[in-house]
Amino acid sequence: MAKLIDGKIISAAVKAEVAKETEELKKKGVTPGLAVIIVGEDPASKVYVANKEKACEQMGFASFKYALPENTTQEELIALIEELNLKKEVSGILCQLPLPKHLNEELVINTIVPEKDVDAFHPQNVGKIMIGEFDFLPCTPAGVMEMLKYENIDITGKECVIIGRSNIVGKPMSMLLLHKNGTVTVCHSRTKNLAEVTRRADILVAAVGRANFVTADMVKEGAVVIDVGINRLENGKLCGDVNFAEVEPKASYITPVPGGVGPMTIATLMKNTLTAAKKQNGI
Ligand code: NAP
Repeated sequence: MAKLIDGKIISAAVKAEVAKETEELKKKGVTPGLAVIIVGEDPASKVYVANKEKACEQMGFASFKYALPENTTQEELIALIEELNLKKEVSGILCQLPLPKHLNEELVINTIVPEKDVDAFHPQNVGKIMIGEFDFLPCTPAGVMEMLKYENIDITGKECVIIGRSNIVGKPMSMLLLHKNGTVTVCHSRTKNLAEVTRRADILVAAVGRANFVTADMVKEGAVVIDVGINRLENGKLCGDVNFAEVEPKASYITPVPGGVGPMTIATLMKNTLTAAKKQNGI
């Protein structure tokens, strides 16, 4: 039976640390502030944004929410970001993705100044992650690393297999594991003999976006299994990319969905916002 890695407990520990540091920072007259932009009515995005606002409140941050209508133009969105780039009370800016199809996500990401890019999506911050000298942590992968650290799971020399190569999860995840001396393989939809590759993994990270995709035959006995996926089933329930019931008896550690990687992502975002506030104030 696998040990459950509890994202709720670990994220609470990270957030408690951020809240404590924020209290000290406020004594110096600096309050971290996070601006969150949401365009349109995507229900999942609304839930994520509400969770981010709640976390800001818990941290003692200022939070600024901009809920824009679905028909917002590219020019309007860029103008708002440019205004927020200059606003002193705003330490971090994030634009909830995905955006409606008529808006250019790349342009939006590139418009946020790197110093306020708390999602770490700007090419400058992505490049820094690549060379291992970064200010902002890529939120979800860094949350995974925090979980491994909390459980004292050593990465050095381990076979680490990631399913998924997105810019948000798979690619930065591979970099962070590599920086910690893992032997990293990144799989994707064109990978041949996927199960053969994943069965090599001492640490398996699933970031596919398909419910119950990882089955027991894809997992080595005793593997650490990290499930990044968040999928909504027809009955409305959330479920990961890993078939938990099948895989759990084989794994040594496993993350649940919900209550696994999800809360860690927000905790890292809070950490990044605090870092941004400190840097912008020379602290
Ligand atoms: P994404 O951009 O859709 O990427 C999915 C990746 O999975 C792609 O690289 C794709 O390969 C690969 N893939 C798809 N089908 C495959 C198959 N049959 N075999 C092997 N690889 C396959 O998704 P994402 O943004 O990385 O997110 C992945 C999941 O994590 C989603 O469920 C998302 O909701 C969740 N997520 C959770 C958090 C959190 O906080 N927990 C944060 C972000 C995302 P190709 O590149 O070849 O198409």
